[in-house]
Amino acid sequence: MVTTHNLGFPRIGARRELKFALESYWKGQSSREELIGVGAQLRQHHWQQQAGLDLVPVGDFSFYDQVLDMSFTLGNLPERARDYRGDALDNYFRVARGRSTSGAQEHGACDGVQAGEMTKWFDTNYHYIVPEFMADTTFTLDASRMLEQTHQALAAGVKAKPVIIGPVTYLWLGKSKDGSDRLDLLERLLPVYAQLLDALVAAGVEWVQIDEPVLVTELDPAWRHALSLAYHRLNGGRAKLLLTTYFGQLQDNLHLACTLPVAGLHVDAINARNEIVTLVDQLPSHKVLSLGVVNGRNIWKTDLEATLDWLEPLHERLGDRLWLAPSCSLLHVPVDLAAETRLDSEIRSWLAFALQKLDELTGLANALNQGRQAVHETLAENRAAIVSRRSSTRVHNPAVKAALKQLDADMGQRRSPFESRAILQSELLNLPAFPTTTIGSFPQTAQIRHARRQHKAGELGDDAYTTLMREEIARCVREQEALGLDVLVHGEAERNDMVEYFGEQLDGYAFSQFGWVQSYGSRCVKPPILFGDISRPRPMTVEWITYAQSLTDKPMKGMLTGPVTLLNWSFVRDDQPRAVTCRQLALAIRAEVQDLERAGVRIIQIDEAALREGLPLRKSQWDAYLTWAVEAFRIAANGVSDTTQIHTHMCYSEFNDIMPAIAAMDADVITIETSRSDMELLDVFDDFQYPNEIGPGVYDIHSPNIPGQEHIVQLMRKAAARIAPERLWVNPDCGLKTRQWEEVRPALRNMVEAARALRAIT
Ligand code: GLN
Ligand code: ZN
Repeated sequence: MVTTHNLGFPRIGARRELKFALESYWKGQSSREELIGVGAQLRQHHWQQQAGLDLVPVGDFSFYDQVLDMSFTLGNLPERARDYRGDALDNYFRVARGRSTSGAQEHGACDGVQAGEMTKWFDTNYHYIVPEFMADTTFTLDASRMLEQTHQALAAGVKAKPVIIGPVTYLWLGKSKDGSDRLDLLERLLPVYAQLLDALVAAGVEWVQIDEPVLVTELDPAWRHALSLAYHRLNGGRAKLLLTTYFGQLQDNLHLACTLPVAGLHVDAINARNEIVTLVDQLPSHKVLSLGVVNGRNIWKTDLEATLDWLEPLHERLGDRLWLAPSCSLLHVPVDLAAETRLDSEIRSWLAFALQKLDELTGLANALNQGRQAVHETLAENRAAIVSRRSSTRVHNPAVKAALKQLDADMGQRRSPFESRAILQSELLNLPAFPTTTIGSFPQTAQIRHARRQHKAGELGDDAYTTLMREEIARCVREQEALGLDVLVHGEAERNDMVEYFGEQLDGYAFSQFGWVQSYGSRCVKPPILFGDISRPRPMTVEWITYAQSLTDKPMKGMLTGPVTLLNWSFVRDDQPRAVTCRQLALAIRAEVQDLERAGVRIIQIDEAALREGLPLRKSQWDAYLTWAVEAFRIAANGVSDTTQIHTHMCYSEFNDIMPAIAAMDADVITIETSRSDMELLDVFDDFQYPNEIGPGVYDIHSPNIPGQEHIVQLMRKAAARIAPERLWVNPDCGLKTRQWEEVRPALRNMVEAARALRAIT
């Protein structure tokens, strides 16, 4: 019999119950017991929902993050949080979110602490809290969380399979704070893992899922050796280990993965399908092979018959050693499609969220165990959906495919090189030295959000809504004029989200109501669903921008989201390469850019906040991605005349390894996040001799602090030491939508004053 199991379940809850419970607890509106109660209820509910599987993950639930949980389990709290005397859950949230000392003074105790650093979990949009290491870091087991959940599960009759992050991946995910080698800690770490595994077996479980996704990355010999050492050492215990990899191919780690002394291996058969036959050949015959055959990263139905065609011969060879699972934890998909009552029924029939994916798994296992006939209805229904999606005119638009065929490299090429364009643009725009601007959004006040919500619900008519938004734009323009900014924006009042706003106006996009996915802690995102060929039925931003321009003599920036960001922040189709989808998006944005230009807009900003997020896990694949991503940006941006100034914006601070791509985008001006790096980030632009104009952020918009004029002048002087002053702009790090006008006004006044002071000195 084929065994079915799951690697992890979304913990936030179908209605984001955990999010609301956390936020209420953090605000002091509910008790610790209430929060713990919600957690226990969610776990019980999720276990019940997975009861059809042969093994159910336990310990995948988390109040904030599974990596931070592991740090607490291993007794690896950051130095600064170690001797906290208060409540353990409270301490956990202190490390997760940080705490300012000001709040602490009210309690008369100093419990202020800096938050742990957060970073992306492999190539997903989930973010984890980075473990911190020092040469003298020691580990001590705190199995309480794992054991409590395991006991709860076993008591409820759940066929529990605890899930933990493996020792090597745990070290790999962390950062050394003192320059010491993290791998030196392995010897100290392994005994704690051995104790943990023993404790779990003593609690009554047979299998433990031990995640080592580092196996799909490029590993130095030292890291491979660490894997070998770790699993030979852990081999003595009684727990049966399912060594689990996901998100990619094993490639040159394949042999290692097969030979590590464990009872079973899980691989991502979506991303590594081409490796599975080799794996079956190489895997010792006593080991279980778990194949991740249902995609845990997207929301499309699995083609069950095609999967069975592929699986049946493998089942012949593996027999009972074959296990089936989703490719990775289902943390990365929404919970239940059944909640989506408003979604177009045709599109809906093509989709599967977490619960539907588990049903698919059961269907596949039944087909293998009892023959396809046993599930013929399931298969027929699935076939109908697959066929409908493949042939739907909603998905396939011949005009878009034809336009894509017409694409040539020239379309991504500006007419003249930057130096010539810069001269023309400066004559036309006539901006002062150190021109000041902002990144696009201004504070989204309660009224704005309210109006947008009412409009969406149909309670506020189009005309009334437009009037309100125009008033908001007018106010925003007045404020910017009063502040004395040089290049203005309309403020983005009409936009809820920089991707959704465009997705809603493009054909080929659909939106779920409850399709939330955890991004970090209590924060969730609801990625739009890009299901079909992308086209732009009508201009999307031109009316707003031209209205804003009509109110001022200063140049007004058109404001768009770029194709790569639209792609990377959506659930995208799996029936064509991402590069093709990205090119379709590029053509739609290009048309918008050209319409803006035609309407007299002379500066157009195309945000690519998520360009870096699309980087593949393996560096060897970066070039391929960057090539098509940059090409897409160029197609979107570069169909304009030399006199039109193209800006792009990226809010992150790591450019060193992607500089050639950034330069190849050839935007006339790039604005980036630099205020917290004290302008050191500009070194890479300097070293690379980046030729175009740069606006290094001088105002950290993530903080309520108001930067002083002198501070901004200092930052800009540091910038000018690296980049020729005539190529510098003065602007915040990112959009201002999450800030209050009371903070924004003085901050921008200081910024404008700083620019004036700089002009006076130079
Ligand atoms: N133009 C957008 C804004 O100002 C950019 C947001 C972003 O880069 N994340 O809000
Ligand atoms: Zn930004």
